[in-house]
Amino acid sequence: MDEEAAPRRWVQVAFSLPLAEFTYALPEGLRASPQLVGCRVKAPFRSGEKEGIIVGFPTEDPDPSKTKTLAKVIDEKGLFGPLTLDTARWVARQYLCSLGEALSAMVPIARKERNLPVWTAEEQASDHDLVLSLEQSEAVQALTADPDKLYYLRGMTGSGKTEVFLQAARWVLDQGRQVVYLVPEIALTWQLRETLVHRFGPAVAVLHSRLTPAQKLKEWRRIQSGEAQLVVGARSAVFAPVSDPGLFILDEEHEGGYKSSNSPRYHARQVALWMAAKVGAKVVLGSATPSLEAVHLMREGRLRTLTLSRRLAGGAPPAIRMVNLRGSTSSLTPELIDAVHATLARKRQVVLFLNRRGFTQSFSCKTCGYEAQCRHCSVGMTWHKGRNILLCHYCGSQARPMQVCPQCGSLDVGWAVVGTEHIEEEIATLFPSARTARLDSDTAEVKGHAEGVVEAFRKGDLDLLIGTQMVAKGLNFPRLQLVGILHADLGLALPDFRAAERVYGLIRQVSGRAGRFLPDGEVIIQTLRPDTPSILLAAQGKDEEFWTQELALRKALDFPPFTRLVRIVVRGKDEGKVRVEAQRLAEALHQAFPGPQGHEIPEVLGPVECPLATVAGNRRWQVLVRSTDFPLMHHGMTSVLKSVPTTAGTYREIDVDPLSML
Ligand code: ADP
Ligand code: ZN
Ligand code: ZN
Repeated sequence: MDEEAAPRRWVQVAFSLPLAEFTYALPEGLRASPQLVGCRVKAPFRSGEKEGIIVGFPTEDPDPSKTKTLAKVIDEKGLFGPLTLDTARWVARQYLCSLGEALSAMVPIARKERNLPVWTAEEQASDHDLVLSLEQSEAVQALTADPDKLYYLRGMTGSGKTEVFLQAARWVLDQGRQVVYLVPEIALTWQLRETLVHRFGPAVAVLHSRLTPAQKLKEWRRIQSGEAQLVVGARSAVFAPVSDPGLFILDEEHEGGYKSSNSPRYHARQVALWMAAKVGAKVVLGSATPSLEAVHLMREGRLRTLTLSRRLAGGAPPAIRMVNLRGSTSSLTPELIDAVHATLARKRQVVLFLNRRGFTQSFSCKTCGYEAQCRHCSVGMTWHKGRNILLCHYCGSQARPMQVCPQCGSLDVGWAVVGTEHIEEEIATLFPSARTARLDSDTAEVKGHAEGVVEAFRKGDLDLLIGTQMVAKGLNFPRLQLVGILHADLGLALPDFRAAERVYGLIRQVSGRAGRFLPDGEVIIQTLRPDTPSILLAAQGKDEEFWTQELALRKALDFPPFTRLVRIVVRGKDEGKVRVEAQRLAEALHQAFPGPQGHEIPEVLGPVECPLATVAGNRRWQVLVRSTDFPLMHHGMTSVLKSVPTTAGTYREIDVDPLSML
């Protein structure tokens, strides 16, 4: 019999499991055709049934007697086209997971479709209400007309980046191509969607993980059918099933929200860069505080920098003062207290910022702020009180906690814990008549609380807002005059090579909240270590200088962006098993990468317990691999992870280019 006469009836199905694809026979009456790719199916699996996705056709016919038949093909039309499937294959390779795991992070799971609540945008505004500034028009011009593909739009909040993105998007849509516009957090999609609907009407679709599955499917289908051409969303929207994207926009590029914390641990920026290269689209990243990775690319000329240097809505950069916290027993210095009083007397508003990502287990000098660091890795060491040791969670080296501060001789060394609750009490005592609220991840868990607080502050129903990271992001308060940063050094001691970059970025972002609309913004930075480059240069706004210094350090210490890292976390209930498993993996990796430890050779660090050694009852150990030669490292790791099976009772988390090192 020839091929024509015997219609092929085999398909390959991927499941959301760390396993390769399986071959099944199609149900009676269906024959293999490209339209089936992307259709979800019900398949007999082990003793039950499981939902999977058709991803292709086997190159050779399987043994019919050993091949099960699908119970059902669910979709009439596949959920994705070739670009999405190629992207999924790349994600699986790059982030070391199965194709099925990659797809399950990308595509909707619902059967039924449901509409999103409809916006009643009053009227569609035209693009031409605003006269672009010279810098803005140059940026739009570059994004639309120049042959370059990769751009970085640098500019502080209020410098008009959004308008540049919108006009570039309009141009791409007019060319008949699609636009994917990402923000790092779901909370930021609401406002942006409103703006976009106002401007582009029904061409807008929204995708993020907090839509109901039915809503997500509806939006997904609207994009697939071409009804919607402008997709706005958070991280996972980078996988929107657009057929011919012309532009990817990633605002607030430096934000950690673009990196997935579950498998596959993809970074939306990397996915966008890959997809854009594949289809010849442009990518524009935007922020006032680019990640060091992006800075490095800009300096190498691989990203073209576009700059917006002025605030367009009447604001100006704030006046920044630094105050030494040394010797202060209170969280607020007299300078800051005076400034708060003065601001409140003017009926203007105050934000007090506390970096709570400060790690509570660092060992520091309370007099001068000195923190114990690993001699080999230059990251903060962690104090293990029970064993009374300082441990480096990168390389595993140990030290005794010092009794006397090696920097200033003070005996007041140990564990410094500062919490927002305590500060709230202090503030209530200091400013009894101020209307005060707190905004942090604890209070944010109460549904709607954060929105309520933000809205009240915006309207002027509150005078003073105490907050953590949440107040640094994308919030615009017209009446805000004073920003106080309470302990600028908190966070520097994190056992994370990005600690300084994060502290620098946070100070810049929080400062940027002041003076957004009026030119009289004021910032007071309280710190124990006013000479620390990340604090001093942030206060002076010397970005280029900070980046030069920080990049030099990263290079000297072999950290990204000069090397690439892969982090493997082994977790499980049983500490012994977890440790043995981590050791086994580390040994296999050492064997895969033999030779003296040099820079060209992937270097294996650990095993060592994670800085967060226990999470949800699971013990955690890690192995880090780093190299300047990513393909070599990646290839070696792929085969080691395949050849060393996981021990029962332990789980592996694989993180390529990790952002979180805890
Ligand atoms: P960014 O996205 O950089 O934070 P925005 O896009 O929010 O900045 O712009 C800040 C403010 O400036 C907005 O209120 C916006 O309407 C206004 N704006 C933007 N471009 C112009 C312009 N060309 N002329 C006047 N105002 C502008
Ligand atoms: Zn000291
Ligand atoms: Zn170390």
